[in-house]
Amino acid sequence: MTDTIYTLHRGSRPLLLSLPHVGTALPEWLTPRLVPRALAVEDTDWHLEQLYSFAKALGVSMLVPRHSRYVVDLNRPPENAPMYPGVNNTGLCPATFFTGEPLYLPGQAPDAAEVDQRVATFWRPYHGALAAELARLRAAHGQVVLFDGHSIHGQLPWLFEGRLPDLNLGTASGNSCAPALRDVLAGVLGAQSSHTVAVDGRFKGGHITRFYGRPADGVHAVQLEMAWRCYMDEAPPYAWHADRAAQVQPLLQQLVMAMLAFAEGPAR
Ligand SMILES: [Zn+2]
Repeated sequence: MTDTIYTLHRGSRPLLLSLPHVGTALPEWLTPRLVPRALAVEDTDWHLEQLYSFAKALGVSMLVPRHSRYVVDLNRPPENAPMYPGVNNTGLCPATFFTGEPLYLPGQAPDAAEVDQRVATFWRPYHGALAAELARLRAAHGQVVLFDGHSIHGQLPWLFEGRLPDLNLGTASGNSCAPALRDVLAGVLGAQSSHTVAVDGRFKGGHITRFYGRPADGVHAVQLEMAWRCYMDEAPPYAWHADRAAQVQPLLQQLVMAMLAFAEGPAR
């Protein structure tokens, strides 16, 4: 299904891949209010559709938005509570870049009414599609895994200290999926030495992982936050690196296969 807000590819197996930050479109009404630097949408989760292109062939459903997170962040709660209290965060309608500088020209940031409007126009349709596809897959298979895929610059002092590990699995500290799924995915990551890993470290899973992950109801959610350097240049123009991608894709495929094996196995 193709929409002006999102594209949903419906697969046949009990796994939905959500890529909430890959959108790059900025509406015409928004661009004159942003600082010029914002037009390059640097805080995009670049190239993830390409990186995960193997998933569709495995029968995985995929949900992809069209618009940039600068319009509204699909991985934040609609009431705009901070994801990680006590540290710097970007909000539902971010006012800053990940480096901390303002996104908007003076006086141009949205007020509460405009934030509500953006939630209605962009946020709710994406989440409506996500919830409906999860419900369809769970009804067909009894249980389902939701995989929320992300990527980010590996060094962002305003957001986190030091250098982010290559692959950061988030399960809301073990609350968003069955322990058996967390264990098997952590096992896949722990069995290799080509990439550094963290499980429920700085990135424990955003709103999508925390809200939809209801293991007792047969919905198991996990997030993977990946450092850009695993498959692309971290400096503009953020070029895809085929040789690096070829290193990490087999590992991503192993994770996806493990999620499918879990979802198609006995109910937990
Ligand atoms: Zn992201």
